[in-house]
Amino acid sequence: MSSKATTLSQLQQIRLRLKRQGKKVVLTYGTFDTFHLGIVDYLQKAKAQGDVLVVLVSSDKAIRSHLPQRRRISALQALTCVDHIALFDDMIPTKEIELLRPDVYCDTMDWGHACKERNIVKRYGGTMKVLPVTPDPFLASLIHETFNTDPEATPAIFLDRDETINKNKAGFITRPEDFHFLPGALDALKKVVSEKYKIVIITNQAGIDRGIFTHQDLKRVHQKMVRELKKAGVTLDGIYYCPHHPKNLCLCRKPGIGLLLKAANDLRINLAESWFVGDKHLDSLTGHYAGMRAIKLGPKVHGTQPDFYARDLKEAITIILTQKQR
Ligand SMILES: [Mg+2]
Repeated sequence: MSSKATTLSQLQQIRLRLKRQGKKVVLTYGTFDTFHLGIVDYLQKAKAQGDVLVVLVSSDKAIRSHLPQRRRISALQALTCVDHIALFDDMIPTKEIELLRPDVYCDTMDWGHACKERNIVKRYGGTMKVLPVTPDPFLASLIHETFNTDPEATPAIFLDRDETINKNKAGFITRPEDFHFLPGALDALKKVVSEKYKIVIITNQAGIDRGIFTHQDLKRVHQKMVRELKKAGVTLDGIYYCPHHPKNLCLCRKPGIGLLLKAANDLRINLAESWFVGDKHLDSLTGHYAGMRAIKLGPKVHGTQPDFYARDLKEAITIILTQKQR
């Protein structure tokens, strides 16, 4: 065992010592069962928030990891930016944050008012920093060489699903009877039919990993979606979903571009000539990470810099069809 790997009770002692020394302690956590340069970059940015970086790793008990905790810890130990590593037995280390009270707590996302960690950190006077994980930059240049130089590849319109083509204010859609298109969405997609663009859905469905619904439930919801699209004369070229829990830090959950790459490979898509349309900041980021243009539906959000804003899908499609190729 390297000296970086420790237990929670030892970490408490280390924390007290560092406090006495006036050192600023930063804490973050994850499953780390996928590992790429984007994660290394995230950990380096976390370390830059203070003097000492403590990384908590979800145990094999807490996740269903493909990579044993011993391997995940040894990968983290190799990083110079990581100072201490400990396992914890949950998906979110709320108890551990209370116990260690880091000066800065870093996360890859912010759940807003519902973010338990933010509330804990705020209570004891610490700071929470949101540092999104970016895709692997090496992979991004490889993608360009692989997909955007193929003269036979065609562009696509990648669409987020919930609140982009269908209504979903409540959370997860687990039954076909709860799937309803947004007004005007079908008409908007009809306009794409005679155009050069493929239509591909890219959706995060973490409810599967959370145990809220199954792959089979999602399949039934998508069968209804495809049926209704077909009735309107629209054929989807692909539906790709990420079933993982956000804490997996997988490459396929938006803003990761794993699903875009899979679609580009399966359907021979030129990513640089494609578009991403979605209602969230994260949808715009996903499109930009893969080198395509992005349209955000709905109101402007601080920090979002899509190429265009649109009221709804209809307006977004009009924008795409009237823009020149790059
Ligand atoms: Mg959405």
